[in-house]
Order: sequence, then structure tokens, then C-alpha cells
Amino acid sequence: MLSGVEREALLWNGPVLELSARGARRLGPDILAEPPDFDAMVANLRHGSPRRELGDALLDQRVVAGVGNIWKAESLWHARLSPRLPVGEASDDELESVLHEASRLMRAAVERWSDGRAVYKRAGRPCRRCGEPIRSRGQGDANRTAYWCPRCQRGEEPPGA
Ligand SMILES: [Zn+2]
Repeated sequence: MLSGVEREALLWNGPVLELSARGARRLGPDILAEPPDFDAMVANLRHGSPRRELGDALLDQRVVAGVGNIWKAESLWHARLSPRLPVGEASDDELESVLHEASRLMRAAVERWSDGRAVYKRAGRPCRRCGEPIRSRGQGDANRTAYWCPRCQRGEEPPGA
């Protein structure tokens, strides 16, 4: 998470970051897009500090959206790169290879899991419990997508809304 000070500093420093009225940060390309925009992800990695450690950079949702801690670790292992390698010491091919691994591993996991899931990536499809269309929306500072059934999951309307 960015602190308030870092967020302001990023705003002062450049046009890359946009804040919406709700304060959501602009996200990097989605690792689960078909196909993922690896060139843009590598460009985003190059845009940051060359001394930033690769394992840290991969979790930055403005660089690439959707890589969590598990898939960061697994994809770095498959690409034979240490999470402590400074981004500036990795070649473009190496950066692309770790992003490829993350995409490949995460897509395989999502597909294996997809038959049994109730809401994740099922926006607009009927709830398996009540038939209501599943909703999705970005939530929180990192604007991660939440998926839920508005009929049978309690708490849909925030108090005072
Ligand atoms: Zn439901």
C-alpha cells in the first residue's frame, strides 16, 4: 500500500498516475488479460527505480495488475530470477520471462479452479445459489475487483447509502 505521502509525491512527479474521484489508482496491465500486454509491463518496470527489487516491483499494481505474493514467488522461481534482483540488472528478456511465467501459472490455476467457483470472474452470470447476476466492482486502495451476488450475500448497501 502507498502511504499518503508517497501518493502525493507520485502525483507531483508525473503524469503516469491518475487518481479518480474515489481515489483509485490507475492499474497496470492485467496479468490475466488475453493476451497480457507484456511490453507495457516491461516499460512500467523500466519506468521505476532501477534499484527496486524485482519481487517488490512485481507486486506493484501500477506496474502489473493482479500478481499476488504466491504467484510472484512461483513465477520468479520458474524464471530463475531472485526476488532481490534489482530491476535495472535484469534484461528485458528476463523481465518478460518472469511476466510470462506469472501469466501462464495464474491462468492455469484459474482454469483448473474455474469449474467450482461461485463468483470469481463470473460477473453477469447467474448466482449458483439464487440465480441473480453476479456483480463485480473495484474495491479499496488497490482497486482489486470484488465479485459478489447482490441478492444472497448480506451487506450490499452500505449504511446511509
Ligand atoms: Zn445469489
